[in-house]
Amino acid sequence: MADFIPLSVPNFCGNEKKYVDEALEGAWVSTSGAKVGEFEKVVADYVGMPQAVACSSGSSGLHLAALVSGIQRGDEVIVPALTFIASVNPTTRYVGAEPVFIGCDESCCLDPDAVEDFCQNHCTLKEDGLYNKNTGAHVSAIVVVHVFGNLADMPRFLEIAEKYKLILIEDAAEALGTLYTEGPLAGKFAGTIGDVGVYSFNGNKIITTGTGGILVSNHEDWANHARHLSTQAKTDVVQFYHDEPGYNYRMTNLDACLGLAQMELLEGFIQHKMERYEQYKAALDGVNGFKILPFREGTRSNHWFYCLELPERLDRDAVIDALTENKIQTRPVWALINEQCDYPRNEAYHMEKAREYRRRILNIPCSTHLTEQDCQRVIDTLLSL
Ligand SMILES: *Cc1c(COP(=O)(O)O)cnc(C)c1O
Repeated sequence: MADFIPLSVPNFCGNEKKYVDEALEGAWVSTSGAKVGEFEKVVADYVGMPQAVACSSGSSGLHLAALVSGIQRGDEVIVPALTFIASVNPTTRYVGAEPVFIGCDESCCLDPDAVEDFCQNHCTLKEDGLYNKNTGAHVSAIVVVHVFGNLADMPRFLEIAEKYKLILIEDAAEALGTLYTEGPLAGKFAGTIGDVGVYSFNGNKIITTGTGGILVSNHEDWANHARHLSTQAKTDVVQFYHDEPGYNYRMTNLDACLGLAQMELLEGFIQHKMERYEQYKAALDGVNGFKILPFREGTRSNHWFYCLELPERLDRDAVIDALTENKIQTRPVWALINEQCDYPRNEAYHMEKAREYRRRILNIPCSTHLTEQDCQRVIDTLLSL
């Protein structure tokens, strides 16, 4: 019987064990330890930023991003509906703000036209910022997610943020390694373009530290503030003075060891993912009504997750079942966030494409272990449906 093909699992084929063993020998297991700073430096250098702040998760990084960007209780924040819920909770409810949900365009990412429509037609721009006409609330920020490693339309979002006085937060959890190769932002990595950006190193991300994240910012003082908040806002090593309510959000030294080893592998992982993507694309795109969604032109995506758009003739859950029977793991894109928890009471605009994608898109196996033969088995199963 054929082997199980998982959707996306970690790959520890490098120096992970060696670095972790070294840390254990020195008993450097917690948030102090030299590897945390080393890891920050390696990631910062890689994405071309002066510094990076290692956190306990992408979610805690996003919470810190919301705190340091000064989103206030009662503010509204523009967020995508098609994303993982951790794009939304930490940037809105954790800081007492309310989301305004906007749909996606064909890239799966937040639709800039829809955001512009909301700002232009549902809000009033005043001297001190943007105000929602319905609620009277100050709309202070926008959270852009680079969904599945595909860059959102950042030149547009930079324009919109400037025009409507919005803080631009990048949830780059899925997009470490993705960058512009052409145009005005050529050479700029996802996560480094707006005011503040966050990457995740959860188990299924392109590299993993078990659980972890990192924050970068174009404002040095924001990054410094985030690091301060992540370590209980402690101002003194000996006396235990704290100048504001902080958090235990710092990455551990053990996780940083994994991160350092994984960073050595990142470019190889991306190459591997690009090859498997091309294999799927050559065999499936435009065949039997299947479509493989492209990554944005003028960019080098990290190709983290692949999107298969199903033909109308196939039911999503029936396809998932058929693949499961063949020991192939897949999943639909997320249930829309505006339909969950108590978020249905918040405003939501332009959901058509997001609803369609929710119904028709599957993520197909994309681990860095995936062999050409595995990939072919997924393709053959899909073509038999
Ligand atoms: C994984 C992920 C997060 C959260 O990161 P964690 O490290 O799991 O807390 C946030 N946003 C998106 C889009 C993600 O995929």
